[in-house]
Amino acid sequence: MTTNQSPTQTASGPIGSATLAEFADGLRGTAVLPGDANYDQARSVWNGAHDRHPAVIARCAGVADVMRTVDLARSEGVPIAVRGGGHSIPGFSTLDDGILLDLSTMTGIQVHPDRRTVTAQAGCTWKDLDAETQQFGLAVTGGLVSSTGIAGFTTGGGVGWLMRKHGLACDNLIGADVVTADGQFVHASAHENPELFWGLRGGGGNFGVVTSFEYRLHGVGPTVLSGLVFYPAEEAEQVLAGYRAACADAPDELTTLVNLTTAPPVPFLPESVHGTPVIGVGGCWSGDPEAGEAATAPFRALGTVISDVFAANPYAGWQQALDPLWPRGIHNYFRSALLPALDNQALGVLAESFATLPGPLAEIHVQHLGGAVGRVPAQDTAYALREQEFIVNVIARTPDADGFEQAIDWARGVTAALGPDAGSYVNFTGDADPALVRASYPSETYQRLVQLKNRYDPTNLFRLNQNIVPTE
Ligand SMILES: Cc1cc2nc3c(=O)[nH]c(=O)nc-3n(C[C@H](O)[C@H](O)[C@H](O)COP(=O)(O)OP(=O)(O)OC[C@H]3O[C@@H](n4cnc5c(N)ncnc54)[C@H](O)[C@@H]3O)c2cc1C
Repeated sequence: MTTNQSPTQTASGPIGSATLAEFADGLRGTAVLPGDANYDQARSVWNGAHDRHPAVIARCAGVADVMRTVDLARSEGVPIAVRGGGHSIPGFSTLDDGILLDLSTMTGIQVHPDRRTVTAQAGCTWKDLDAETQQFGLAVTGGLVSSTGIAGFTTGGGVGWLMRKHGLACDNLIGADVVTADGQFVHASAHENPELFWGLRGGGGNFGVVTSFEYRLHGVGPTVLSGLVFYPAEEAEQVLAGYRAACADAPDELTTLVNLTTAPPVPFLPESVHGTPVIGVGGCWSGDPEAGEAATAPFRALGTVISDVFAANPYAGWQQALDPLWPRGIHNYFRSALLPALDNQALGVLAESFATLPGPLAEIHVQHLGGAVGRVPAQDTAYALREQEFIVNVIARTPDADGFEQAIDWARGVTAALGPDAGSYVNFTGDADPALVRASYPSETYQRLVQLKNRYDPTNLFRLNQNIVPTE
């Protein structure tokens, strides 16, 4: 429904009709209710595993709408979910019978080329942000799939192709506008509300609704040497060991990953391998173009090359290159392990797990962190597992519910085999499990996050996230 319709006709659930009508009338955006023609479209999220029915979807047009929506949740005592790009793997950005605060239409972006900064509203995706910043030859670390929202991505940390040179997305955050649980609008930066600013950089959506992000930008592109090289699955142990060795000497301008996967039917792979297990080694060189071939060479000679599609791609194009492989609506579950090194035990687990992929959509990603990510002092941001040099993302995906639980069991088994001491990454965690939240932070960081939660959200209004539970 839109603001000029009467919600009394359709209101049901936890909020009274009159209250809902008044709320909807006051919105500059729209309130979508069950029964509205666009309700099913508005409630759908990227991960098809989550099919929920909010009582109201508040499509916010600006900060005032966000404040009104937070106030409604607090005053009515109704659960609230916050949606930026809608890519939450555990389905945190939707809910049954509560209020969905939807930021997806807030996509304003202002680049300041002279200052090399950008201010972006919280509904932007990486595709939006890259388009505006690359117009000026600038960029900030973004996601591997361009439909991912900047909001959840940045507040959780933000691992991407530029990270070894320029840090995580959250390392480049220089300010944020936030609506807190008590409905206040505050700015957070190194100088204003610095503790909140610390928590927003890795602590997820626990402390309020960010309405806009300000990032530091870097000169990137217009082209970057980037792509994938594919090796046979039978060479997994050799390729993984070679990858480990190549990472040890990799310059910061080069960010790489290994993808233990099944060959999709794409023209750059021979038909003979389509549908069979293959190893993809991907990379992005964001340094001097002349030096790119030499820097990427070790990663492109790790075994018998099936196909090498490294090329000088427009940066924004490379950011979108994997999008077709990540369609909306199928079932997804991620489980992560942050590791200080790829020891032989880990390599063995990865190779064995690759041999038991539960279906053609399941994958294991190994991403090389280090570089600028590792140089940020652990106490500077809530993302603090800085000494972990590799992140393993175990991805269980099935077209629908059929076989999904078995795939999840497989993913959990892989990370368990990687060891009980492995860290976790909130953005690659498909469960809502307090033990995994704890594993995402050193204990002193976790305690500091609890103190921050006590201060900014003592009633845990914002609990649909990798939740820091308040103690007051
Ligand atoms: C296909 C795919 C590719 C991915 N690739 C990467 C990758 O390369 N690197 C990486 O690090 N992660 C990656 N992720 C994980 C991604 O970072 C998280 O899923 C992230 O939460 C998505 O952000 P979003 O805004 O799209 O999600 P949403 O579902 O909208 O939000 C997720 C959660 O973030 C919080 N949140 C959202 N908006 C706000 C806000 N405005 N203020 C405060 N909190 C907010 C809330 O807790 C919310 O529940 C990927 C995920 C997918 C599905």
